[in-house]
Amino acid sequence: MTLTAQEVKARAAELGFVACGITDLGPSSRGDALDRWLRQGYGGNMRYINRQAKKRKDLRLIDREARRAVVILDNYYYPETAHADSIPRTARYSRSTDYHIITLKRINQLAELLLEHGAKTARPYVDTGPVPERELAERAGLGWIGKNTMLLRPGLGSWFVIGSIFTDLPLDVDPPFATDHCGSCTKCLDACPTDAFVEPYILDATKCISYLTIEYKKEIPAELAGQLGGWAFGCDICNDVCPWNLRFATEATIPEFRDRGELRGADEAFFDRMTEGEFEARFGDTPLARPGLERMRRNWRNAWGSLRKT
Ligand code: SF4
Ligand code: SF4
Repeated sequence: MTLTAQEVKARAAELGFVACGITDLGPSSRGDALDRWLRQGYGGNMRYINRQAKKRKDLRLIDREARRAVVILDNYYYPETAHADSIPRTARYSRSTDYHIITLKRINQLAELLLEHGAKTARPYVDTGPVPERELAERAGLGWIGKNTMLLRPGLGSWFVIGSIFTDLPLDVDPPFATDHCGSCTKCLDACPTDAFVEPYILDATKCISYLTIEYKKEIPAELAGQLGGWAFGCDICNDVCPWNLRFATEATIPEFRDRGELRGADEAFFDRMTEGEFEARFGDTPLARPGLERMRRNWRNAWGSLRKT
């Protein structure tokens, strides 16, 4: 029996995804912009993006068997994960179990549906591999890439994880999202504490707190460490201030995305006291495992230091 795009989307909704779109695969319209961004060094030490550039610029190269990408959005917004100002803050998505685990479990079930209906390939990606998720989602009609470089969806905002399944099933595709609803707004650009936006839509990741606290492996440069504003892992400011989030953010329905409370009451020596074994037991299945204990000690120290400066 032939599977229709509507049936795929209905199953995605049953699995708790807030949106689902389908796109064909072809050369990226943002390939030149990616080259320029890399040439300027805005990717810092994320050299994997250089290595992946060819595939990111031509989506057909990601999986040569695939003809379509089914793209889903997984809302992770719980209002109670708003950060207390007095202690170091961590990005909203980092306070639950790792989204790779939460979203992958359900996107795998969506992939099974495709395989049951004759797909030879149905490969899921959740912020993994050479997939330019935001562009893919825009191509699949799910939203536009805003001045803060996040994907924004009318009626929802941007508090979601983007996942995709590359498949050979010739499903009907959605028209790309063709309009930009940022208008004259510059709230995200104005609010960034480290001036990480070179211009609207272009982020110098080497200045971004998310990069500095998650990807950057050395000691955080002093002038930027002083501007962390208490962020110890990631930064939500350019999402927090966005009018589309302020107006439309909707509580998630996936309980695993709730704050696990692991950092509640954590004092200044919290990570310094912790052994590797304790860190693994407590944070091994959370996004904090990416920087690991040593870098969380660095981040925590710098975040407390930055709070004293404010
Ligand atoms: S995440 Fe924070 S530091 Fe990075 S661009 Fe957004 S506001 Fe700036
Ligand atoms: S804050 Fe304003 S400019 Fe920035 S992404 Fe949101 S709508 Fe666009």
